Parts: sequence; C-alpha cells; structure tokens
Amino acid sequence: MDSSLTNDFHPLEPTDFSQESKKVIDFIANYYTNVEKFPVLSQVKPGYLKTLLPDSAPVSSESLEDILNDITTSIMPGITHWQSPNFFAYFPATTSTAGFLGEMLCSGFNLGETNTSPAAAELETLVMDWMAQMLELPPSFLSSGNGSGVLQLSTSEAMVCTLATAREKVLREKGYEGISRLVVYASDQTHSSLQKCVELVGIPPSNFRCLPTTYSDGFSLTPRTLEDAIEKDIESGLVPFYVCATVGTTGCGAVDPVEELGKVARKYNLWFHIDAAYGGSACICPEFRHYLDGVEHANSFSMSPHKWFLTYVDCCCLWVQNPDNSLKEGLPTIGTEYLMNDDDDSESKDMEDYKDWQIASNKRFLAIKLWVVIRRHGLATFRFHIRSDVKLASYFESLVAKDNRFEVVVPRKFALVCFRLKSSHSKEDKNQNQELNKNLLLEVNKSGHAFMIHAVVDGVFFIRCAIGSTLTQECHVVSLWKLIQEKATSVLLNFSN
Ligand SMILES: *Cc1c(COP(=O)(O)O)cnc(C)c1O
Repeated sequence: MDSSLTNDFHPLEPTDFSQESKKVIDFIANYYTNVEKFPVLSQVKPGYLKTLLPDSAPVSSESLEDILNDITTSIMPGITHWQSPNFFAYFPATTSTAGFLGEMLCSGFNLGETNTSPAAAELETLVMDWMAQMLELPPSFLSSGNGSGVLQLSTSEAMVCTLATAREKVLREKGYEGISRLVVYASDQTHSSLQKCVELVGIPPSNFRCLPTTYSDGFSLTPRTLEDAIEKDIESGLVPFYVCATVGTTGCGAVDPVEELGKVARKYNLWFHIDAAYGGSACICPEFRHYLDGVEHANSFSMSPHKWFLTYVDCCCLWVQNPDNSLKEGLPTIGTEYLMNDDDDSESKDMEDYKDWQIASNKRFLAIKLWVVIRRHGLATFRFHIRSDVKLASYFESLVAKDNRFEVVVPRKFALVCFRLKSSHSKEDKNQNQELNKNLLLEVNKSGHAFMIHAVVDGVFFIRCAIGSTLTQECHVVSLWKLIQEKATSVLLNFSN
C-alpha cells in the first residue's frame, strides 16, 4: 500500500486531540470567568459578520489560535450571553462543570444509533428511571411498570411524538380521513411550540384551542373552561383528542391544575400531556412536588434538564405511561432493511430500540450526559440548587414590593418574578402603562448590565425577571434592582414631562 496516501492526515491524532481540546476548554473556562464583563445583550447590527469574516472557505488548514482570535473579536460581540450572571431573560439555560463533562462524553463517543450499543439503550432506560424516581412519578412511568422514558432533544420533539402517537390511535379507529376533525386543547399561556407541533402533525390550525385564562385563576386553565370547549366541539361534530397542561408557563410561570384537567381528559378519553419543561426540575423538591399531583392521569409527561437542571442543551426527558400508549405503537416504524434489528438475534429483541421513539434515526448519547450530571451532583445538591434560585427570586420579589412605584403582577410560583411600574394615575391607562414599562425595560437592557424580557397576559404588559442563571449570585440581583430603580426614576421623569 502506498503509505503517502494515509500517513500525513490524522484528523483525530491523540496528542493533537488532547492539546487542542485543552486549549478550547481553557478558552471556555476563561469565558465563564469573564462573561460578566460583556454587555449581556448582543451589541451588533444584523449583517455585521459578513464584513468581518472571509466569505469563502480556506483551502489550507488554519491555526487554532487564529480561529480563537476570530471568535473573540468577531463572534463574541454578536452573542447574547446566556451564561452571564446578569442574564434574567426567558428561562435560564443552566450549565455546570458536570454538565460539560457529560456533554464531552456524549460528543466524544459520537454514537450513531443506540440500537447498536446495548450500553446506550440500557443507560437511557436507567437514567430515565432515576429521573422518574426523583420526580416521584407513579411506577407506571418506570421501565419496571411498563412505562417508557426516552430522551429527546427538545420539548417540541416530545410534543410532536406524543401528538403523532395520539393522532395515530384515534385515526386508526376512526379512519384517516378524520384528521381535519381532530381538536387539540391548551391554555392561552401554553408555549407557542405546541401550536407549531400541532400544525406539523397535520392538524388544521383552526382546530387548536387556545383557551382563555384569567388573573383570578392565576392564569391556569380551569377544568370548567376545558370541558365547555370539549362539549362545544363534540356538538359541532369535531373530535377532541389531545390536551396539554403546563407546569410553569413561559409567560408568567403559571401552573395548570394537573389533577382536575387530567380527570376531564380521562372522561372524554383524550391524550393528556404535561409540559413541565421549566417547572419540572423544581418538582424534585417535596415543597414543589404537589404541582404534579394527578400526573397518573397523564399519558405523557416531559421536562427539560437543559433548562433548570444544570445540563447543557439539548436534553429533554419524555415519559409515556401504559404500554397501549407507547410511542412505538403510535410512531410509524418504517424499517428499511439495513436499519432493522436482526429478528433472529434474540439479544437485540430484548433491547429498547429508541430510534422508534423519536424523529431521527441517529441519537446523541444523551443518556451518558444526564447520567454524569446526576451522579456528580446527587439529589441533595439539585434540591439545594433549586432552592437557592427560588430564595433569590423571593428576595428580588421582596425588593419590588418595598418600592411603591412597582407591583408584582402575577403571584410567583418558581424563580420567575413578574413585575411592572404601576400607573401614575389612579385610573389605569393600559397603553400608557405599557409604554412606561416598555421604556423601562429598554433602558435596562440598553445599559448592557442586565437582560430581561417582557410578557403580556390578559392584556397587561409586564417585565419578567427569571432568576437562576448558574453564575447569578445575590450581588447580581442587588445590582439588577438598583439598575431598575435608577432607570425607573429617569423614565418616570421623562413621562411626567
Ligand atoms: C422552553 C419551553 C418550551 C420549548 O422547549 P424546546 O425544548 O425549545 O422545544 C416549551 N414549553 C415550555 C413550558 C417551555 O418553558
């Protein structure tokens, strides 16, 4: 063999791998140390990057130093720093050293399909059982109780898989031409990803019921509202088939009453899904677990460790209870010859083939990532982590309450505080108040010292302060509040002039 064909290109030469990877890890460690110094919000104008970077690929290899330099000078200014301790927007994407180790192992093995690696499939079953136990899910969600837990990349994928499964069950019975009559229910606080997923599985957009919630009900969906909507649709000849409840809505952190909605879903034989992407993590603490009371009524339940559980994106846990409902039954298993387990091979038949429970055939080794995160922290540490964030949020809330120019808009459940400047006049002018709070938020975010976003519920515009970024400490919350007060003073002054 001509040795020159192979000898001078080693894309995975062990010494290079080790040295270059260490440089990148040091780069990231340094980033975390200094992330607080950057303006939280990206400072660039769209289109800025094409003036800074060459518009065609290099012909020869470039040095890692050059690449890291370009990242520092060109890429970083266009990044919003989700890992900044002053990031209070959306929900935090929490990280941890353990999470990074897990991420490295997940990427390092770079497995294709889990059905070729018994360890990957079995570890997935194991780690999903661990999570189910920490959340005190009923035994019917665990592998020993014929439930099935599977790791997905996102809540949206979990929703698509459950919607497709529920749809399949109904249509198999009622005939596939009935798809235009299927109806999905959720509250007006449900994450917009549900609507997208409903349309992705071919349900007409007009058959998505975004049911109203009110302040007096804490912006949670009432069973009465749900049942009325179902009855009305049945009367019009439609076919209700799927309800989604949320534990910790994105707008204001509301919690739908799982138990009561579950009973309505059971009564009408609808698929009941619980989306606890953010709030689910808190339910490992006994004081929050009651939000999941009634989870036994759910066909499926999902939460995302990549939000509040110290795990890097992506990682979403989805459980389906009861073998009749399993994703394998509902998702099309379109096996091409080369993708199938060998049926004569009895060992592979005993193994879960997780590709039948998700969209892609490939699967990242998410199980090892989550398993490392859980082992390196342990349940007690996770509880401590959740409680520290909740304590900080409660502290922030007390600061808001002490300043009579402000009010807390929605009662806090987790670590999300929803607040606003009150109207200056006794009779509230909604538009004027919105203008006021919009300006306040703009000024705070413009300063570069913090980043929050707004939400509107029931026509009320307010500012969301989501506490819990991994690096956030008390001092950051104190500075944030000082900044808000300062900007409020100037915004109010401008308004009265
Ligand atoms: C973040 C979030 C989602 C969307 O999750 P993806 O993983 O991005 O699909 C859905 N529901 C809730 C309640 C969320 O907080």
